[in-house]
Amino acid sequence: MKYNENLARTKELLRLVIAQMGKHDAPFHPVNYAVWYEYMAGINDALNREVNELTTDSKKLDENIVQRLFDKHVSDMTEAKARRIEGYLNRVLGVVGSSANEAFGQVDRYGTSLTAIDKELAQAPMSQETLHLQVGEVLRETRGMQDVLSTLKGHLTATRGEVEQLRDELNRLREEVLIDALTGLVNRRGFDERIQHFVASGSGFCLVLIDIDHFKRVNDTYGHVFGDSVLRAIASTLKSSVKGRDVVARYGGEEFAVLLPETGIDAGHIVAEQLRDRVARSRIRRTKVEEVIDSITISAGVAEHRQSETIVDLIERVDAAMYASKDGGRNKVTVAA
Ligand code: GH3
Ligand code: MG
Ligand code: MG
Repeated sequence: MKYNENLARTKELLRLVIAQMGKHDAPFHPVNYAVWYEYMAGINDALNREVNELTTDSKKLDENIVQRLFDKHVSDMTEAKARRIEGYLNRVLGVVGSSANEAFGQVDRYGTSLTAIDKELAQAPMSQETLHLQVGEVLRETRGMQDVLSTLKGHLTATRGEVEQLRDELNRLREEVLIDALTGLVNRRGFDERIQHFVASGSGFCLVLIDIDHFKRVNDTYGHVFGDSVLRAIASTLKSSVKGRDVVARYGGEEFAVLLPETGIDAGHIVAEQLRDRVARSRIRRTKVEEVIDSITISAGVAEHRQSETIVDLIERVDAAMYASKDGGRNKVTVAA
């Protein structure tokens, strides 16, 4: 559960949220409530940052903006899916478990009665009639056993489809949690995983950190929705400018990281320059107003991982180089010291 506020606090929030919703243009539906609830509760930093930016100059938020904020910052699809998978799993385990328990019980009873029959048979001599009765008993017990096993088999077959569905959902979920929803790039969590993998492999790599220049201006001039499409466009330019084994990640809001495996610093520097150049030369179209924006640039830092250097140290080095590019006038690449 993502909400931990107690009853008194939620009553207070209810009042604040209603007052806040009253100041804007969106209808008072639950999506709108959820957005303002998280905002007033102060439990969602990214949401608060964006709302604060959007509401400078007391701008009013309409239904479309609120819906976008909800999709981007509030709705937690991953959590909902995880809960659904948990439900599946419990159901499948419940059915298979109880039917297996029944089968085990039956196997025990079968074993006990076979032992008993065996004992009786050992007490020879035995009439034809008694022998016949005993064989009948064994047959009856065996049929009972067959019934239980075929029930178990039926349950296992019936749940096989669900188990396969479960496995597919889990695989999708595993991939989704490592992907950034806006750009489709690997997200920060995915980046952390990949860089650890590269360090462990010991085969050497370069790291490029990229930050969009004056991105706040883009948002302020054209709005956040267009800002988001610029992020998508730059993500796609970066992705299409590197080789398949290279990793392009959305490292933070308007920051990207590129991992170049088995690449020395000279080649890494060339790639970083190419990325900077490709972005600077790209044209981003605002389709609604037929306007072309051609002034978007990036600043970058690049370094080759040193043997036994920690990831934190490497990132600090590259970050400092990236800031040197900003200080040097932006639209630049700096090789880390
Ligand atoms: P600099 O050249 O120094 O990097 O200037 P800047 O304006 O890019 O730097 P700053 O860090 O001040 O601003 C980054 C901005 O990026 C602030 C924030 O509104 C914007 N931003 C971060 N994430 C997103 C996002 O997901 N969508 C949009 N549209 N904007 C975002
Ligand atoms: Mg930044
Ligand atoms: Mg920036």
